[in-house]
Amino acid sequence: MFGFPITYHEPLFRPPSEGRSLIIQVTLGCSWNKCSFCEMYTSKHFTVRKQEDVFQDIEAFKPWADQITKVFLADGDPLVLSNKKLMPILEKINATFPNLRRISTYASPSNINRKSDEDLKELQDAGLQLLYVGIESGDDATLEAIQKGETFESTVTGINKAQRVGMDTSVMIITGVGGRYHTEQHAVRSAEVLNAIQPKFASTLVLTAHKGLEHYKSRFKGEFIELNLTEQLDEMKRFMEKVELKNTIFRSDHASNRLVLKGVLGKDKERFLAQIEQAIQDPYGKTRQVYGGY
Ligand code: SF4
Repeated sequence: MFGFPITYHEPLFRPPSEGRSLIIQVTLGCSWNKCSFCEMYTSKHFTVRKQEDVFQDIEAFKPWADQITKVFLADGDPLVLSNKKLMPILEKINATFPNLRRISTYASPSNINRKSDEDLKELQDAGLQLLYVGIESGDDATLEAIQKGETFESTVTGINKAQRVGMDTSVMIITGVGGRYHTEQHAVRSAEVLNAIQPKFASTLVLTAHKGLEHYKSRFKGEFIELNLTEQLDEMKRFMEKVELKNTIFRSDHASNRLVLKGVLGKDKERFLAQIEQAIQDPYGKTRQVYGGY
């Protein structure tokens, strides 16, 4: 009987848009592993996998080499590795899969900032074309409270640095992540951070306390009061009013979103604002599908 050719170190995560990509684990866990809202890798110690093990995983897919067009490097932040470690892996991927169109990975602004322009260009030339960056918030006080280890400045600098060498970015903001106390600044500064980077893709999801609210509060620095649905929608409205994007594919269609928005910012900004306003008027009366994009 046919079995999957490799065994992953669970748990394994990838962005929804990488559902048809081959996932190769380069590192295990996340080298930061402190963000208050994130439980993805709390069960794992951060480990750099041996090159021979990564190569073995890549080779295991040789029988399907022609069909593999996209590869996603896992786990949390493979860009923490030096180019000396990353480049042989990218070269091996390129040599193994003749129809490869793109390599992508999660990345933190700090890890991007640690690389020189030349290093980033070398990675992009080797096919690393898309970085998924969890910005979460543009507000420094909120970033501090959620222990993100980033600032507005580090985020803008890092993402623009990657984009300057030709990489694309897909970024995410978390509605409600700062709670009631931070909501105004979180909305405004999150819009401003997007305005400053003009990413190719952006999305929002709503804070979900996977291990319960008390656990989230215990990892949050300061007072946290969860937003109710109306407050989430108000935060979204404030964010959308301030966003000035020229050509960003925008999605708020993660399962956590009560209000689904899909389109391109800026051309769909007025439609999004109208949808948010409609939801504010009747927040509990409709299902998320009723508000669903187009
Ligand atoms: S950097 Fe990313 S993967 Fe690591 S703890 Fe924060 S959100 Fe989770």
